[in-house]
Amino acid sequence: MNLYALVRDVKDFPKEGILFKDITTLLQDGEGLSESIDQIAAHLENVEFDSVVGPEARGFIFGVPTAYKLKKGFIPVRKPGKLPYQCVSQTYDLEYGSSTIEMHIDAIQKGQKVVIVDDLLATGGTTKAMIDLIERMGGEVVKIVFLIELEFLKGRELLKGYEIESILKY
Ligand code: 5GP
Repeated sequence: MNLYALVRDVKDFPKEGILFKDITTLLQDGEGLSESIDQIAAHLENVEFDSVVGPEARGFIFGVPTAYKLKKGFIPVRKPGKLPYQCVSQTYDLEYGSSTIEMHIDAIQKGQKVVIVDDLLATGGTTKAMIDLIERMGGEVVKIVFLIELEFLKGRELLKGYEIESILKY
């Protein structure tokens, strides 16, 4: 099935000049949602790992069903102040200003192998911050899978050395 046809382009969101890839139209489609998860999971079937790590909010949407399908655990990465227990945090630069993400202090054990799942790779900044957080906790990122990759933003360059797969490329 053609997953590209289910992704909607939204002009000037969240600000002028940005063409946002809207995945809600894909989520609304039963076949599209199922096919997306199947394709993400297929990239991880022969990978040895313990848990899926995904950032809020769209990383949850694709990360949890992937973890469920492969019978793995899921580790949420969130914006500050959302997780209830003691956290470790990582601050990273955005085009203007910075952002912070958090994970529970006991979410990852030393030597634990994890994969990252998210909806979209743009500049790679969010994923790089997650990798830094995971590695600070002693975890190892063995693979990263995105539903969408905006190739023209060259996010892969920031994530050099890591194994990356994406289903839809623009
Ligand atoms: P990056 O850190 O790679 O620049 O941005 C990736 C993050 O921003 C992802 O977590 C993704 O959800 C969000 N994002 C950036 N641009 C888009 C877009 O066009 N569509 C969607 N769905 N998410 C985006």
